[in-house]
Amino acid sequence: MYPSKIPVLIVGGGPVGLALAVELGWRGVACMLIEQGDGKIATPKMNEVSTRTMEICRRWGMADRVLNCPFPADYPLDVAFVTSMFGYEMGRVKRPPRAAQEPEPHSPYRLQACSQIWFDPMLREMTQSFPHVNLRYRHRLEHFTATAEGVQAKILDRDAGEVRHITADYLIGCDGATSPVREALGIALDGKDVISNPIHMYFRAPDLVKQAGKQPATFFLPADRDGLWGNIRVIDPVNAMWRLMVDATDGTATPETVDREGYLRRAMGRPLDVEWLGLSIWKRRSVVAESYGNGRVFLAGDAVHQLSPTGALGMNSGVGDAVDLGWKLAAVLQGWGGDGLLASYDTERRMIGVRNVGAATGFYAINEGFGRGCAKLEEDSAAGAAERCKLGALMEKHVGQEFRTIGLQLGYRYEDSPICIPDGTPAPPDEPGTYVRTARPGSRAPHVWLEEDRTILDLFGRGYTLLRFSHAADVSGIEEAARDRGVPLETADIDHAEAADLYGRRLVLVRPDGHVAWRADATPADPLALIDRVRGAA
Ligand SMILES: Cc1cc2nc3c(=O)[nH]c(=O)nc-3n(C[C@H](O)[C@H](O)[C@H](O)COP(=O)(O)OP(=O)(O)OC[C@H]3O[C@@H](n4cnc5c(N)ncnc54)[C@H](O)[C@@H]3O)c2cc1C
Repeated sequence: MYPSKIPVLIVGGGPVGLALAVELGWRGVACMLIEQGDGKIATPKMNEVSTRTMEICRRWGMADRVLNCPFPADYPLDVAFVTSMFGYEMGRVKRPPRAAQEPEPHSPYRLQACSQIWFDPMLREMTQSFPHVNLRYRHRLEHFTATAEGVQAKILDRDAGEVRHITADYLIGCDGATSPVREALGIALDGKDVISNPIHMYFRAPDLVKQAGKQPATFFLPADRDGLWGNIRVIDPVNAMWRLMVDATDGTATPETVDREGYLRRAMGRPLDVEWLGLSIWKRRSVVAESYGNGRVFLAGDAVHQLSPTGALGMNSGVGDAVDLGWKLAAVLQGWGGDGLLASYDTERRMIGVRNVGAATGFYAINEGFGRGCAKLEEDSAAGAAERCKLGALMEKHVGQEFRTIGLQLGYRYEDSPICIPDGTPAPPDEPGTYVRTARPGSRAPHVWLEEDRTILDLFGRGYTLLRFSHAADVSGIEEAARDRGVPLETADIDHAEAADLYGRRLVLVRPDGHVAWRADATPADPLALIDRVRGAA
């Protein structure tokens, strides 16, 4: 059944559109997602699900599925620096396999290896578990008109060859880098359009690691006398599926002219018979949209930020967009979001887009040709060994930074957000490799175990959560103000010394997306003003 009217129409069924459909579905908001393709992933891009995305998956009830994905739990996530796959190993960043990961204080999870070939279908199954989410493959947005009242969309049902007309309260373009929705809105991209022209080659090579005489690793980064030039990554160890990425080419290659065998020989250090599975020629960009939407039309994911995969921030940033936008759309559609709530999406997320694109480009700038000019690198001699030892250590330190990103994954905060109330404390440093646990307004409310397998994060999500670390504080004024405005709010009394210390104030108000909106030791003089501010109505 085709609805003629829908609250939210999502265009694009990549991981970000699917994540938004899950977020809305989880919040009880009816939506339709249209994807022009059939949902099959021939050439997977995304493989690393960040710590924060894992926490979001926990809220949605799918974290265990990610943890149990077909990437083997005992396969090390290490990054090995090599002269070639069959050549010398020069250094290694150790990242333990899932089965051996020790819990860390800052999250119930670590970053996980879970390719898009598994992650996207998990998201799709989640969307299909909500009867109010309407998922349509092989449906393409042809045109839309947005007014102050709503959005009229013209959609082509590609199988039926029929055109459908749907009215939506909001239209969200999760339609990828070439985003027709962004184009139609006339929103430009700021930044450096093309920073390199990479090529991906997918192949099957059973027992490759064993044949090469290496210890297993997820990434093998090859450097020769021209420096670091690509990466060899296992996507699906059980089915021996690998991807060779060439970092930069002159941009003239076509699928017919790519010298796959030549690149493979260079990567392996010798000829190797493989089963070729696919090829993708793409552009590495460093851009952020000048705006994340206009009126009733919003954009998320690669439609608004395109970045180098160094640092694995692409989809993970897009999931962050989906979560920020999702609760705000729900609030407005459910009648308790203020007039300024949706506008805060641009304020909050655009600055994170700029931050993450900058970090990813910075990692790529370090990588590009790293170690170029080491003429004896592949030599079986004492001088060659000395060069490898030196370069390996440098690669671990410098190139390795893109694999030590806990600050990037968890430390993003909504500075200067109109719907968060600063408490005057200084911002902790925002560094890629370091995360400082803090409940400063704008930050992700930090994790602490309250009981075995019960994190404080489990309290957040449906509405606002008012954490009360002192039973004595009278929060009835805040509760009444929330009731008055129809804002869903639950008070949670926390009797836990570590949490009290970490959160730093007796009262902490956490938003539905798990970010801190406000904290203080006493109730505010005007609780209605507090509630209006955090719901975007002040
Ligand atoms: C080599 C590589 C490795 C990467 N690794 C990681 C990683 O480990 N972690 C990470 O977080 N990110 C990674 N990324 C980035 C990540 O893949 C992207 O950021 C992510 O796929 C973007 O998702 P999206 O849903 O925004 O866009 P897309 O995946 O591009 O999806 C957009 C969808 O919109 C559809 N569409 C477009 N126009 C229309 C229309 N008119 N009507 C209907 N549908 C339409 C398209 O068919 C497409 O399916 C990597 C990228 C690369 C290149």
